[in-house]
Amino acid sequence: MSVGPLSQKLFATAKELIPGGVNSPVRAFRNVGGEPFFVRRAKGSRIEDIDGKTYIDYIGSWGPNILGHAPTVVTNTIHEVAKNGVSFGIPNPFEVEMARTITEWVPSCEKVRMTNSGTESTMSAIRLARGFTKRDLIVKFDGCYHGHSDSLLVAAGSGALTYGEPDSAGVPADFAKNTLVLPYNDPEALTSLFEEKGELIAAIIVESYPANAGFVLPRPGYLDLLTRITKKFGALLIFDEVMTGFRLGKAGVQGLEGITPDLSCFGKVIGGGLPVGAFGGRADVMDLLAPLGPVYQAGTLSGNPLAMAAGLAQLKQLAGNGALASAAESPNGYDRLDQLGQHFETGLRALLEEKGVPHRLNRVGSMFCLFFTDREIVNVSDVMKQDLEFFKKFFWGCLEKGIYLAPSPYETGFLSLAHTEADLDDTLGVFGEVLGRI
Ligand code: PMP
Repeated sequence: MSVGPLSQKLFATAKELIPGGVNSPVRAFRNVGGEPFFVRRAKGSRIEDIDGKTYIDYIGSWGPNILGHAPTVVTNTIHEVAKNGVSFGIPNPFEVEMARTITEWVPSCEKVRMTNSGTESTMSAIRLARGFTKRDLIVKFDGCYHGHSDSLLVAAGSGALTYGEPDSAGVPADFAKNTLVLPYNDPEALTSLFEEKGELIAAIIVESYPANAGFVLPRPGYLDLLTRITKKFGALLIFDEVMTGFRLGKAGVQGLEGITPDLSCFGKVIGGGLPVGAFGGRADVMDLLAPLGPVYQAGTLSGNPLAMAAGLAQLKQLAGNGALASAAESPNGYDRLDQLGQHFETGLRALLEEKGVPHRLNRVGSMFCLFFTDREIVNVSDVMKQDLEFFKKFFWGCLEKGIYLAPSPYETGFLSLAHTEADLDDTLGVFGEVLGRI
């Protein structure tokens, strides 16, 4: 249950210099009771660590690398654009092209502003919703993660959930009391909260498909209810599509589900692996942002030419042919990703049945999450009841055999256009072997 000697040595040094040895908590592998490997390089579906071991990767930098690692269209673009300068702090044409692409692909976004991370996007969208409605309260759902801004680090998922400390120290109670938390997929709890406090609520923020406490899907009608109830009470609906946006289709979950949120947040895929976020929505709301309106929001590196160009190159590739399939087999990247997802799901279900492993498997397109439990997964409390010891053994067994899954049972897995059916079949072979041993 350990990584190679060079990774171990470097992690020992890292721990002396960086808190916990990492720059983002979930990377530390604490939830699987171990230490991380360090990456030397990555290409396509593969990562190579500094000890020379290679892995098939199912994380893709936690979502951004939808074409696989270091896709030539993105790396060539970065090289070319960098020759003309890497940051200006003056408007550049790529920003306008990015805004045009986002507003064309996502019809609910009439206007959009770029940021440098998903956290900045959700934080800014919340401020904007409060400024627009002149109300303070926001509603979020237990286990949904929206980045690490103060308002949103309440009952959060992802790394915060992993360590069993959903509320961070350093967030004033006075501040957190403006964040109301509800169980997900519970229409009665939502309705009664709005009946009691609806006139004071600025916004509901929701992960379009919650994917930071496992991967949980909305019950039929639930997303419609969020739309109707916010409209009725004059609150805004903020769709956090940082993970799902541009991954599950050109218009993300809102496109799949036919929902028109007031504001949407993006990140990950739109940056092509560089640090990017965005938020957009109704023009009348967005126009409240400075310099037009009173809601302040800014960023030295926002709209950075390298990040915009890298993201645009990635999006164009996605909208065109899937990287590896012929046009006849796959009219666009999203269809190809779904083909791969379907292939993986079919094989995985058959394998788990054959081995008699209690499980639930949620998959949409290229996102998946396997739960080692046979209870229905409705919200975070179901997710927390799965067999964690079993997951740990599974994780380390797979890692040893060169399959890199998220080092936490609460994270979602990602496929990329660089994965092939052969990669997936090899992975299922390893799963079978590891499950046979546990
Ligand atoms: N929202 C969601 C749904 C996310 O999954 C994440 C990150 N995993 C964020 C917001 C925060 O994004 P970032 O890490 O880029 O700040």
